[in-house]
Amino acid sequence: MSAADCLFCRIVAGEIPAKVVHESENVLAFRDINPQAPTHVLVIPREHYPHAAALAAARPEVTAELVAAAGTIAEQEGISEAGYRLLFNTGEQAGQTVFHAHLHVLGGEWLGGLVGGELR
Ligand code: AMP
Ligand code: ZN
Repeated sequence: MSAADCLFCRIVAGEIPAKVVHESENVLAFRDINPQAPTHVLVIPREHYPHAAALAAARPEVTAELVAAAGTIAEQEGISEAGYRLLFNTGEQAGQTVFHAHLHVLGGEWLGGLVGGELR
């Protein structure tokens, strides 16, 4: 997939606007256009990898930067003490719709889903 075909590569290139909340040399973070919680931010590598495992295999240090950036964003958003969720959807059955690795940061309310090892 070339950058021209990838929505998030186009956001990195500045061709599509985004509400950027954090950026560094390797990482960009912006608000999800269809938020599923009061805070819903996507943290992405500037370089294109189709999913998190491919990113981790090629650039482990950038994968760590994604998680560290999520922590910084949670602090900025005031949700780090209450708690937040980090999520990588991988593949269609998991609901991945954009095939440029991205880390969801969700918080600001009680979150359902997998809680205490049970789906609720
Ligand atoms: P996923 O389903 O894990 O692939 O997540 C893709 C996410 O990208 C979804 O939560 C979408 O709401 C979000 N999204 C799609 N287009 C945009 C956009 N232009 N700006 C910000 N977020 C977007
Ligand atoms: Zn891309």
